[in-house]
Amino acid sequence: MTRFVGAHVDPSDPLEAAGERGAGILQMFLSNPQGWKAPEPRDDAAELRESPVSVIVHSPYLINVCAGNNRIRIPSRKILNDTLQAAEAISADAVVVHGGHVSDDEDPVEGFVRWKKALDQVESDMPIFIENTASGDRAVGREIEMIARLWEVVGDTGVGFCLDTCHAWAAGEPLDGLVDRVMAATGRIDLLHCNGSRDPFDSRRDRHDNLLQGHIPVDQIAEIVRNTTCPVILETPGGASDHIAEIDLVRSYTDGI
Ligand SMILES: [Zn+2]
Repeated sequence: MTRFVGAHVDPSDPLEAAGERGAGILQMFLSNPQGWKAPEPRDDAAELRESPVSVIVHSPYLINVCAGNNRIRIPSRKILNDTLQAAEAISADAVVVHGGHVSDDEDPVEGFVRWKKALDQVESDMPIFIENTASGDRAVGREIEMIARLWEVVGDTGVGFCLDTCHAWAAGEPLDGLVDRVMAATGRIDLLHCNGSRDPFDSRRDRHDNLLQGHIPVDQIAEIVRNTTCPVILETPGGASDHIAEIDLVRSYTDGI
């Protein structure tokens, strides 16, 4: 089966953007990624539902269901549920959420328990993929070792995992052998965010770059693509022409497999 490779696109006309890129999958925001406001109903909901293009929804960056502060944790759960409902309305395939972090004085285990509670309160069958993050000393989704501990608590909820190459690199996780280490931690990789990094290894900075630029050796990105079977989303800078070239590049890594 052809592997789905696509890109994160502007939400103004996502199907047009996917068509321009020849992509069978796209990722988009349904609301302001920096805001708490619930997604608005979309005029193109029926088109998105009926389209053969697979749609992944990226939830707002502000979501932190692990927060000790309930003025962050409670709205985080709410907008997660709002986003899941809005994703259902367009028949999306899944919603991606960043792992989040606890406060400086807290044990990360508190965050695992809060993730479990958030997942238990979800009123939707929409799949949720927890994504690894680039930074945060108290992050629950940065180091693979921490993700393994998180999965001991949330793994039986059926939650999925999204692996981001830029975030792993920035987090100080060697990319060599990364897929095996993640699989040992979670038993699954549901989506690959295939990104270069504008910063050196272990920078803790979340700045994506194009695959052939930036600091990550492209053969290490190729190895990760080859060792996974899930759909691939590029979250790289540039427009359609940049993405077309990168989608071709990613597809070339799996030719003959
Ligand atoms: Zn990502």
